[in-house]
Amino acid sequence: MGHNSEQVFRYLDQKRILYGNKIFLDTQTVSESVQNVESLESFKNSICECLKCELGYTRTNFVFGVGNPNADIVFVGEAPGEKEDLIGEPFVGRAGKLLDKILAAINLSREDIYICNVIKCRPPQNRDPLPKEVDLCEPYLKTQLSLINPKLIVALGRIAACTILRTKEPLKNLRNKIFKYEGIDLVVTYHPAALLRNPNFKKPAWEDFQMIRDKYLLQD
Ligand code: SF4
Repeated sequence: MGHNSEQVFRYLDQKRILYGNKIFLDTQTVSESVQNVESLESFKNSICECLKCELGYTRTNFVFGVGNPNADIVFVGEAPGEKEDLIGEPFVGRAGKLLDKILAAINLSREDIYICNVIKCRPPQNRDPLPKEVDLCEPYLKTQLSLINPKLIVALGRIAACTILRTKEPLKNLRNKIFKYEGIDLVVTYHPAALLRNPNFKKPAWEDFQMIRDKYLLQD
């Protein structure tokens, strides 16, 4: 059994635990899930050697994204940091652990969501991505989103939000609003690393996640 199939069956098993055997009656759902894992994986394989911008020459690992290929919610950060670059996965380390805790508080786990960055390779010294790098890399994010087709995008942090929305507004002005990106609802909240740096952000961040839960998770 290949890696992709294993992912699919693990996903389906989780759904079976949650929803019973009903999902197995819907053969189209099963084949669509398989197809989507395959297409996201093959897209990753087609771009993982990318050298379109300078960051491709300084990265340790290309960081595509992880999670459920059929997720309803996609979390998008700005770019890989040091640990993400070393491991090749987004949101690892302390900030990633805090994100896991916040997700658990609204009954989600990493297996339920998809998580990636606008930029797939680490900018040296964690500097902000340059506009040229964003222009070259953002089409990859758009393709990921079109394959996953989520109900909601959550931009984590000001840089991710401002990059995606082409704005210079401070983060507090972008919260509590629903934007559209590629035709998909998009909301903005704090990056978990910002919550670690400034605990005062935890209360408004929790309000954002409660809104996400109430508006996008409790409706199913
Ligand atoms: S940052 Fe994006 S565009 Fe630049 S090399 Fe990496 S994948 Fe390619």
